[in-house]
Amino acid sequence: MAADRPVKRKRRGSGSTGQGGGSFLRQRTDPRSERRFEPKASLELGLTLLGMSVAALLAGAGVYGQWFRGDEAGAHPYAPYLLLGAFLLGAAAGLFGQWSMKAIRVGDAGVAVENGPTEIERIGWNEVTGLLLTETALTVQGSGTAIAIPLRAHLPAASRVLAEVRKRIPGGAVDIEEGALPAPDDAAGEVRPLEPPQVAGLRCKATDKLIAFEADARLCGRCGEVYHKEGVPERCATCEAPLR
Ligand SMILES: [Zn+2]
Repeated sequence: MAADRPVKRKRRGSGSTGQGGGSFLRQRTDPRSERRFEPKASLELGLTLLGMSVAALLAGAGVYGQWFRGDEAGAHPYAPYLLLGAFLLGAAAGLFGQWSMKAIRVGDAGVAVENGPTEIERIGWNEVTGLLLTETALTVQGSGTAIAIPLRAHLPAASRVLAEVRKRIPGGAVDIEEGALPAPDDAAGEVRPLEPPQVAGLRCKATDKLIAFEADARLCGRCGEVYHKEGVPERCATCEAPLR
């Protein structure tokens, strides 16, 4: 029975520029996916929230003590101190606390940060102009925009981004040492399918031809660059992946 199964033919073509095989050319509707990473609830975040809660309690007590004790009792002598404490603690939590609660997405469509339930900021691999690793964050730079991935809350996402950049953008991470971040963990992040990209109205990267219809678009499967079906070059103009 097993002998009747079609043999994987993919390997033979890889390396050549023949049809199928090594080509990264994709239709707009070819399946794509990404991983969604929830931020790790850290000690810093817990302390930030605790600080804010205590500040709110102090503020409540302070406001009551200062103004709401009734005419006979008057303002409590400690009330101004409670208010001052609340202000200082709240300010400290706001200034130094950790507020990176945003989920990060990494996949075929690049890197994205969820700024809100429906507001997603995205940088495609073909739009990445630089990658910067510091002690605290991995920053993905695009033209006129950047997404900073805090390492404490998002180490698995940062590892994934670094590995994807090495795979998808030639020379995109040459400034970052091998092993600077741990290897990506396949168990981290929830894999989700991506919608086909909105490409009507964009221009072909190679010929500048307007892509009037979604069906005319072709994509580079490695970096996501967009081409008109009549203008697909031998190799991707952005990442040099073979397209024919
Ligand atoms: Zn490409």
